[in-house]
Amino acid sequence: MKKQHYIANAWISHGQGEPIPVTDPSDGSILGEIARGTQEDVNAAVEAARSAIGDTFDGPWGRLSALERSRLMHRFAAAVTERAEELAALEAKDTGKSMKTARADAVALARYFEYYAGACDKLHGETLPYEQGYMVVTVREPHGVTAHIIPWNYPMQIFGRTVGASLAAGNACVVKPAEDASLSLLRLAELAAEVGFPAGALNVVTGFGHEAGAWLTAHSGVDHISFTGSTVTGRLVAEAAAKRHCPVTLELGGKSPQIVFDDADLDTALPVIVNAIVQNAGQTCSAGSRLLVQRGVYEKFMEAVADSFRALRTGPPALGLDMGPLVNRKQFDLVKGIVARAEADGIQVMARGQLHPDAAAAGFYQAAVLFRDVPHEHSIAQQEVFGPVLVAMPFADEAEAIQLANGTDYGLVAGVWTRDGARQLRMARKLRCGQVFINNYGAGGGVELPFGGVKASGYGREKGFEALLGFTVLKTIAVKHG
Ligand code: NAD
Repeated sequence: MKKQHYIANAWISHGQGEPIPVTDPSDGSILGEIARGTQEDVNAAVEAARSAIGDTFDGPWGRLSALERSRLMHRFAAAVTERAEELAALEAKDTGKSMKTARADAVALARYFEYYAGACDKLHGETLPYEQGYMVVTVREPHGVTAHIIPWNYPMQIFGRTVGASLAAGNACVVKPAEDASLSLLRLAELAAEVGFPAGALNVVTGFGHEAGAWLTAHSGVDHISFTGSTVTGRLVAEAAAKRHCPVTLELGGKSPQIVFDDADLDTALPVIVNAIVQNAGQTCSAGSRLLVQRGVYEKFMEAVADSFRALRTGPPALGLDMGPLVNRKQFDLVKGIVARAEADGIQVMARGQLHPDAAAAGFYQAAVLFRDVPHEHSIAQQEVFGPVLVAMPFADEAEAIQLANGTDYGLVAGVWTRDGARQLRMARKLRCGQVFINNYGAGGGVELPFGGVKASGYGREKGFEALLGFTVLKTIAVKHG
């Protein structure tokens, strides 16, 4: 399988960049190759998007009415639903994620497009009170060309929530998928053309982050950048954007706490808490990767979590186990190294999951690991691991829970488990993060719910109507009519 870029509704590649091999994480074999984007490829994609919009929104995409955009987006959602199995299989092969997760990603992608398709013609400005003799209105216009830099962990979902919102607002998009997970997004660009999107409305350029990604973020023809990825890269992207006054949304990493009080419904909490760290083999920005448990139930609850961890099975995606392999060798070595260092520092492993006998030695399989009594200051309790590793620690009271929960550089999600209604509200207000789930942990789900972080987890919001507003520019028009 050899893939070029998808620009202006055609397979294309400029220049002589060496292709990038596509690896199957389940056994380390080479599946094919994708194009290594050159500066010319990036220029071509941005130019295609600019012509689709037109200088004064008069291009073949820019002049469509909200209703016409909406209809195209509905058609795309239907096409994704029809081909959900094909898309999921492609994604599972490319990223190692289980078919169950990949199918859920395809369903979520279709749902994002449905949601934003329905929102196209509900995007409007206001009339404002002003001096006598004036009529003042605001209108919401697209930025123009938006760049979407996407990580490898949930390519289809992140495409759905950022590209879906941006197209709905009337922008033309240039997408740079992760070098480890480009296949599904290339196929989606092709599908968009098949359902009738005009050339240039949606373009995908593949390649390395420090090349194609960096050229795209620095490109003067890009009017807005939506970046989802690591905190370190997010900072580079924000710097590149600041140099040319380009607005940017950053969706970065997390070290999200699950906080369990003595009065929690432990039976309900247990499977949700375990799932929140093993879903997608822990390669989820909103993974509940820290477990804070009140002392009164600490021993009892930790035993239950440990039992669940011992039952978790990791193996080839086709077997439909709890977890597949990690995405690539680099991530695998990273997670293994973090676990080994924590053990060498004397942190106690309370439980490990199982590796299925069919997990190929050459694949990137990491069993789940549960650490207990982890010192809050240790790096494994402070830094994102991005693997199936849960660190647990006890707390005495509400004040200490808040202090621990807020005590990392991140602020993406928090889960709170308690039956006390007043405490639910106090916790919700005192936690410094973008979203709080009380007696549930639905992070990632719900296309309607705005999502994003504070501190090193980023800024700006995706999902929901809020994201749509972020993909627009508000213009004020004051008419003096006398
Ligand atoms: P990454 O930062 O290495 O890469 C993300 C994307 O950025 C890739 O497409 C990559 O090619 C590109 N990139 C790399 N260097 C670049 C540069 N200099 N300029 C422009 N683009 C560049 O992240 P990753 O390892 O692919 O993804 C994992 C990270 O993503 C984790 O930290 C995770 O928490 C985060 N994430 C966050 C969210 C969220 O919504 N907050 C969602 C998913 C993933």
